[in-house]
Amino acid sequence: MSRPSFSVCVYCGSRAGHDEQYTRLAEVVGQWIAQHGGQLVYGGGSGGLMGAVAAATLATGGRVVGIIPKALVEKEWAKNDCTELHVVENMHDRKRMMAERADCFLALPGGIGTLEEFFEVWTWRQLGYHDKPIGLLNAGGFYDGLLGFMRHCTTQGFMGEWQSDLIRSEADPLVLLPALVQAAGLSDPVDTSEI
Ligand code: AMP
Repeated sequence: MSRPSFSVCVYCGSRAGHDEQYTRLAEVVGQWIAQHGGQLVYGGGSGGLMGAVAAATLATGGRVVGIIPKALVEKEWAKNDCTELHVVENMHDRKRMMAERADCFLALPGGIGTLEEFFEVWTWRQLGYHDKPIGLLNAGGFYDGLLGFMRHCTTQGFMGEWQSDLIRSEADPLVLLPALVQAAGLSDPVDTSEI
């Protein structure tokens, strides 16, 4: 396995959600990362969308870096077949390491853990702690309510447009993933699966 040309940190549900389409979406993301010579960085669990994106990346021949706090190794069923599995002291260490290992961030559908991680990298970016691109995968309008609420925050004077401009939201992973990798200043990702 050659050296990855980029790393995408994916935040997503530790559950799969009620609709099979969410799992399909996670699989498309994992496959795209592997097919374009990238590496997945994620929370290291085997359940839900987290497990699905990691399994799809591995099954397509890609590298997966899983980072999980020791207290969650059993609760989130640490994925032992990750290319690298890091068991860290606590959630803060997990999130710091995930952010450090990533070139860009992508949030898929998920619950409060996903939202917390997404908002953390977004707020870190507005403070200038990093300048890595951040994507929100609004497949099937999953995040329409959240984006509407962000517009409400803006019209009510609690946010500036420039803060919304720090994230990119797209419905299609095949549009969003290459845009994030290119915005990270990395070369155009080429599909290496047929090379
Ligand atoms: P969820 O979207 O709630 O299914 O969680 C997705 C992932 O976010 C899980 O691996 C959680 O452990 C993780 N996570 C990150 N930060 C937190 C936090 N502060 N509280 C709960 N879960 C978190």
